[in-house]
Amino acid sequence: MTNLLPEMAEIWQQTLNWKPTVQQQRQFQRLYELILEGNRQLNLTRITDPQEFWEKHLWDSLRGIAPLLSANFSPASPTLIDIGTGAGFPGVPVAITLPNCTITLVDSTRKKITFLDNILTELALTNAKTLVSRAEEIGQHSQHRLAYDIALIRAVGAASVCAEYTLPLLKQGGLAIIYRGNWTEDETTVLEKAVSELGGVIELIEKFTTPLSDSIRHCLYVRKVANTPANFPRAVGVPSQKPL
Ligand code: SAH
Repeated sequence: MTNLLPEMAEIWQQTLNWKPTVQQQRQFQRLYELILEGNRQLNLTRITDPQEFWEKHLWDSLRGIAPLLSANFSPASPTLIDIGTGAGFPGVPVAITLPNCTITLVDSTRKKITFLDNILTELALTNAKTLVSRAEEIGQHSQHRLAYDIALIRAVGAASVCAEYTLPLLKQGGLAIIYRGNWTEDETTVLEKAVSELGGVIELIEKFTTPLSDSIRHCLYVRKVANTPANFPRAVGVPSQKPL
């Protein structure tokens, strides 16, 4: 059979101290097939090789939430949001992996969300829902502001832009997880300033390499420790045009 995802049980176990159940592996496989299908009509991803898809979409998505995979994580049923989820990364692998969480998948492109709605139905993922909106809008909406334990964001913009999109959505004490490729100390200095304006602190920056191709990645963990001033997020387009 072509397009069969590798299982990589040992690598999952070694790197994340976790491995998918039979059911989760089936969901990963089906997700992969649906994305290959969807790619014919929508420009979803350049990553279509099975090994590469496993590494850069599945493993990478879950590496960011490694702290949540350990059993003693609290709260036990966290509420998550994935901003700029695109074809569903990191949000869909996270929904598959953490059945006790609820996750909202947000993207500004309606076509991508329509595609994701079909994925959620096909995979019977009842703990995930979708929303067509912009981070700047939901951040000022009472239903979403101060509403989430964890906000995920991958490949959406500069780190300070990601911080402005995510921190308003978090409850006090909540955590933003910003996925990056390369990262430098100079960038940390810039981000520290932006994050402090938003009521956050950089709690941890993890550097790691991906397990198959040894590509460099970073995850930035930003904790919300104070109120985010009411003027953030700024109006649509402003955060990316005038980053903090
Ligand atoms: N997170 C996915 C997709 C990254 S592409 C991944 O890592 O594979 C960036 C996505 O963010 C696009 O789908 C785009 O529509 C969306 N996006 C960009 N700016 C946004 C904003 N301000 N609010 C919501 N979605 C946004």
